[in-house]
Amino acid sequence: MSTVDTIALHGGYVPGNGEPRQVPIYQSTTWKYSTSEDMGKLFDLEASGYFYTRLQNPTNDYVASKLCAMEGGFAGMLTCSGQAANFFAVFNICEAGDHFIASANIYGGTYNLFGVTFKKMGIECTFVDQTLPLEELQKYIRPNTKCIFGETITNPTVDILDIEKFAALAHNNGIPLIMDNTFATPVNCRPFEFGCDIVTHSTTKYIDGHGSSVGGAIIDSGNFDWMAHADKFPGLCTPDESYHGITYATKFGKAAYITKATAQLMRDFGSIQSPQNAYYVQIGLESLPARMARHCANAQKVAEFLASDDRIAWVKYPGLKTDSQHELAQKYCPKGTCGVMCFGVKGGREKSIKFMDSLKFATIATHVADCKTLLLHPASHTHRQLTDEQLKEAGISPDLIRFSVGMEDPDDIIADLKQALDKIG
Ligand SMILES: *Cc1c(COP(=O)(O)O)cnc(C)c1O
Repeated sequence: MSTVDTIALHGGYVPGNGEPRQVPIYQSTTWKYSTSEDMGKLFDLEASGYFYTRLQNPTNDYVASKLCAMEGGFAGMLTCSGQAANFFAVFNICEAGDHFIASANIYGGTYNLFGVTFKKMGIECTFVDQTLPLEELQKYIRPNTKCIFGETITNPTVDILDIEKFAALAHNNGIPLIMDNTFATPVNCRPFEFGCDIVTHSTTKYIDGHGSSVGGAIIDSGNFDWMAHADKFPGLCTPDESYHGITYATKFGKAAYITKATAQLMRDFGSIQSPQNAYYVQIGLESLPARMARHCANAQKVAEFLASDDRIAWVKYPGLKTDSQHELAQKYCPKGTCGVMCFGVKGGREKSIKFMDSLKFATIATHVADCKTLLLHPASHTHRQLTDEQLKEAGISPDLIRFSVGMEDPDDIIADLKQALDKIG
């Protein structure tokens, strides 16, 4: 099973003789054990086995291990949402008094989590301009900086993060790089191949693909050597009193980070994905490679149409040769980026809104990266809570429309755009 296309269909779950071909849904909260001692060993993490779905469930594990294989990682877990995945990914190694760095261009929900909610927990995040050179970025590193966070393709500005530059920044300072790979998916980019240490996903987007279930995932490459920087990561490198003195990094090696996130964070915060939703994620993963190819081909046509229409003020899509992100996209996403793009209609904010209201099947929705064409206006929707200054910092202009190209006939999508442009005059 060498390529992501094949792993998407066959990875994670291998049925035995006479067993179901499709991943079964284990719709059970609990598992039965014969003796008290058998179960006691599980609680001590002495034996592995299932006992309660808040910690682990076989359906979730099959799906997580498929996604892990697609990313080329070592261990993975599912969470109830992308927000929970990003929260766990950082909180698993940061505690009160710590600091971390994130690109300023990340998704509005994550920006809020990092900038506002983490601050309340005593964890400080500095947002940086991801285009700065390595020497400039180095100035933001402090003695208590514990990780660096970015998105492979940013939501909504579709900027491509220079993964190798950020991996160098992280590793020069003995800390891991965490990448949210939601928009690229492992089909179009595998961040571990460029030095990233931990990947997160909102499976709600392309991975599910059909707008049916909210979910998230964390995948660890297993490459970061926690013990080599033990002073920075006491949670992984010193005994956990809530687990009878287990030291995750020595006991679990490459699985330490995911084991801690499961045994400690999932136990305490309970953000488990339901097995039913994991099943939808599994169905989505099977067709993900075929769908991503279609999204990219359609988006290319749509972007070229928008770029050629003089009623459009600007269009940003990394697939366009003239795009500021084209070169980085060629390097990190050679098969294509995704179906998402941004543009503005001439006449500014008002015209952009009128144009959106004139579309027929392209739907205004707080969703993105779906099989159907969707759009929204970040300044009035997802990024509503940001000030004008923060909007500017995040690279979002007031007229910006986030357009998520679906799998319809591309000529129909273009026809819908044309009729809406005709209406606004
Ligand atoms: C949507 C999104 C999230 C949040 O995921 P949810 O599943 O909605 O909680 C995080 N990161 C990115 C890049 C997203 O697009």
